[in-house]
Amino acid sequence: MNTVTQESTRQWQAADAQHFLHPFTDHAGLARKGARIITRADNIYLWDSEGNKILDAMSGLWCVNVGYGQQPLIDAATRQMKELPFYNTFFQTSHPPAIELAELLAQVTPPQFQHVFFTGSGSEGNDTIVRMVRRYWDIKGEPARKVIISRFNGYHGSTMAGSSLSGMKGMHDQGGVIPDITHIEQPHWFEHGRPQNLSREDFGLIAAGWLETKILEVGPERVAAFIGEPVQGAGGVMVPPSTYWPEIQRICDKYGILLVSDEVICGFGRTGHWFGCETMDVKPDLMTIAKGITSGYVPLGGVMVGERVARALIDEGGEFNHGFTYSGHPVACAVALANIRLIQQLDLVRHVREDIGPYLAQRFAELADHPLVGEVQSCGMMGAVQLVKDKAASTLFEPDLEVGMLCRAHCFGNGLIMRAVGDRMIVAPPLVMTRAQVDEMMALIRRCLDLTLAELH
Ligand code: PLP
Repeated sequence: MNTVTQESTRQWQAADAQHFLHPFTDHAGLARKGARIITRADNIYLWDSEGNKILDAMSGLWCVNVGYGQQPLIDAATRQMKELPFYNTFFQTSHPPAIELAELLAQVTPPQFQHVFFTGSGSEGNDTIVRMVRRYWDIKGEPARKVIISRFNGYHGSTMAGSSLSGMKGMHDQGGVIPDITHIEQPHWFEHGRPQNLSREDFGLIAAGWLETKILEVGPERVAAFIGEPVQGAGGVMVPPSTYWPEIQRICDKYGILLVSDEVICGFGRTGHWFGCETMDVKPDLMTIAKGITSGYVPLGGVMVGERVARALIDEGGEFNHGFTYSGHPVACAVALANIRLIQQLDLVRHVREDIGPYLAQRFAELADHPLVGEVQSCGMMGAVQLVKDKAASTLFEPDLEVGMLCRAHCFGNGLIMRAVGDRMIVAPPLVMTRAQVDEMMALIRRCLDLTLAELH
């Protein structure tokens, strides 16, 4: 274990600022403040280099579903490192961990999924999807079908295809967008439906209708696929109205378009079913998986390929010229196997659906009485609190005030990791949380909201 002292913290911060370019980070700002150095973790808690204990309400980065320090995952990695630390899965070779994981994934995913293509991350998974759906339509004799429709404010990764599929302007402005990807508005009732006095359900149908409008604008014969997260995560835990996804499915079916569910965050129990598409009651053709597949202990991603696409690739496609050195990495697969078996053993999916998810929803709903809170949403172990300037009129703060960042700073200062997306404060804690830990998290959230309110007045 690292010796934790202020001296070592300062040394780490200096070296970090000098040599380390971080993801999604303003480095000038980071150099001024110094990075927070996280040195160890257990269950749902982290410790920083100065010995502060922090409740990790974001599961690392939406991934540590089984919590930190789980011995079966550690043992699986150690065993596999000794047995076969690496071999590739190209050129007609395979190995037991990848085979066993593929078989287990076919059992825990919806029945249309009998095949998996392994990648190293969620972004690589979505890159694979872009190539795979275009390949599918080539095989099917409709090569004009190239366009993939996704949503503004969706997040699908940082590779060129992942960032293009993502609907984040800040990303598109840096490096552009690959051709034949287009976006529609997200189903954000608070922003678009509420001002027009629409019920959530009516708004859900209207928002899904924006997909049909876009398909007709592009030309149905050119549209290959629609991709979306069942619940938008990085965009701010946007839980769609219940009518939204079934209507999206109906529209995709009407035009024969492939439906892709990006399950990188929602997969592996977070929404109270194994996959978010089950919670939303839709049947996608493809699913992107990552994060919760290993609970983040080691990197692994993949694409679950439904029978419609798999049959075309296998029976008619010949060689698919695509793959990564770490596709089906044996250590990652061994950890994923141990992780999924642990989720089964602890009955975590049911725990989220029937116990801890509803309890989190109940405790989150109580925040609605807070003067700063305009809307509260949750789904399984994901929750969001929309901060507002005027509760009665539901007016938002001026973005320049950065109220979300203010609140996040109070969270950091009070031993809680919560994320700010604009003025939306979000959580996605480990699925192993107990009711007492939910209470502890809620007390911290309320304290941080109070401190934020006090600072604004
Ligand atoms: N898709 C979704 C929904 C995500 O939330 C993320 C990452 O947060 C990704 C894809 C990209 O995954 P990765 O960071 O593993 O490349």
